[in-house]
Amino acid sequence: MDPNMALRVAEGVVLRGDLPLLGQDPSVTYRMGIMGGTFDPIHNGHLVAAEQAFDDLQLDVVVFMPAGRPAFKQGKKVTAGEDRYAMTLLATSDNPHFLASRFEVDREGITYTAETLEFLQGIYPSNVEFYFITGADAIAEIVTWRDAHKIARIAHVVGATRPGYDLAHARQAIAESSLPFDVTYLEVPALAISSSYLRERVEAGQSLRYLTPDQVTGYIHKHHLYGVQPSRYGSTDVRIQ
Ligand code: NAP
Repeated sequence: MDPNMALRVAEGVVLRGDLPLLGQDPSVTYRMGIMGGTFDPIHNGHLVAAEQAFDDLQLDVVVFMPAGRPAFKQGKKVTAGEDRYAMTLLATSDNPHFLASRFEVDREGITYTAETLEFLQGIYPSNVEFYFITGADAIAEIVTWRDAHKIARIAHVVGATRPGYDLAHARQAIAESSLPFDVTYLEVPALAISSSYLRERVEAGQSLRYLTPDQVTGYIHKHHLYGVQPSRYGSTDVRIQ
């Protein structure tokens, strides 16, 4: 490998300790999954989708990248990036091929996927391929995202769907664009779970057990997210409901 490239990869790792070291052997092609989402909060559907992408697409690693200020959510209430990142870190911590990155949470301004992918392309050598994984609903809009042509050029795109989801809209949007998107769709039964369902359950005082890792539920309670009330003793309530 070109020594400058090695340095850039090393810089990426040193400066961004949450990104994996990939691309060391120039005779090997490496595949990095980037799991893009708001993760408000992260749930087992996301985790199963990432694991399925890892297996089906023979990825080397999946980096969960909570969006800092999601582009299409301006004016909507979104939990602080720091909390969404912390929950993502907790949820991914026991899987050796999952990482959580603060890259988008730490960036100023609105989060644009094209900027993230350009940054990654800039620090990794050309034998690292990028697989941007997100929900199929989001894929249907991808042709309208800022610098969509760059996304199409830099990354393979993976749309995760729940069974029975109608992909016609997403397929049509991609087909009608002149952009060379390479899209793979993954059917993930666990995506019957959604972040909004979890938020509603928390607000109604219902259990999140088996919907998201217990550490995430603990974090939600400890930090009083999604309408959790502080306990009457004024201490933090970390019960797993
Ligand atoms: P969203 O509109 O909140 O999500 C759309 C659907 O996809 C929801 O059903 C959501 O379920 C699901 N979903 C989201 N991320 C997923 C994932 N990684 N795996 C499986 N399902 C997922 O979309 P979003 O979360 O705001 O954005 C998704 C990604 O696209 C982010 O990385 C965001 O930065 C990027 N994006 C970029 C632009 C741009 O560059 N202009 C514009 C929009 C989005 P849950 O609610 O359960 O997650």
